[in-house]
Amino acid sequence: MLESKFDEMKGFHKLESLWRVEYKGTTLEPLLTQAATEETKETVDSILAKKIPKDTPDAVPLIIEGKAVITGNAVKGVFRHLISSQLTEAGLAVCCQQIKGKGVLPEGRKRECFPEKPCFVCTWFGTPSRQAALHFSMLRSIRGIEEVLAGDAIPMIALREDYEAVDPRARAFLLLAPVKDGVEFGGWIKGENLSGEILGGIKEVKDMSEKGFVQFGGYKTRGFGAVRIDILKVEKYKTVPFTLEKAYEGNDLKVFLDSCQKEYHSLMGRGQMS
Ligand SMILES: [Zn+2]
Repeated sequence: MLESKFDEMKGFHKLESLWRVEYKGTTLEPLLTQAATEETKETVDSILAKKIPKDTPDAVPLIIEGKAVITGNAVKGVFRHLISSQLTEAGLAVCCQQIKGKGVLPEGRKRECFPEKPCFVCTWFGTPSRQAALHFSMLRSIRGIEEVLAGDAIPMIALREDYEAVDPRARAFLLLAPVKDGVEFGGWIKGENLSGEILGGIKEVKDMSEKGFVQFGGYKTRGFGAVRIDILKVEKYKTVPFTLEKAYEGNDLKVFLDSCQKEYHSLMGRGQMS
């Protein structure tokens, strides 16, 4: 495995550039963002206003100020996972976060990075002791929760983890009240001193999303959560003084992202040569 073959970040002590990547997510499948409180279940239940064979649905979206929300942490986790596992397959040195490793190091991964010598992924996504250069906003539905919920709760038989699978009691009846497909969410990614490679990595995840490979929220194995990502605008700011240097949109944006993606592919190519 190769170390430090990527364009290193300039460090947090010197702010050369600030980046803002605006994007929208559109659900390709129903989406359940996370288990919610009883109060939210009642809200969703009253919106659905249906006689359902349970008091309230078992799983409903996270709702903040009337909008369905995917947390920034969840978005970051999906981006981190896809980029880490792709670079591992490409033969680059990518560490495994201790919190997930549980002592067993997966094949092809190295131990969690030291903060002063981060791998590509830790450079941009951070470690418990090193701040991230990328920050992900919450993704909020553009329309209010009443308009984005699926019209009917979806019944499902699920295995309960607290019983053995052979026990008939393990098959729990669940009612899921997801966000329907075709719903638009808006969000942005903020970055400090970003390289073309990591911007290309973000473009790569966007490309995967077009085929349904980017999923958020719960019940992914049951067909929930695919979201298509469309990058709307990338802004690069100078910092001395703080000024907009360039706003990439339309064809400019396409040309810029394609060139960043070439840099990211070239990074993967260097992993293959090792
Ligand atoms: Zn690392």
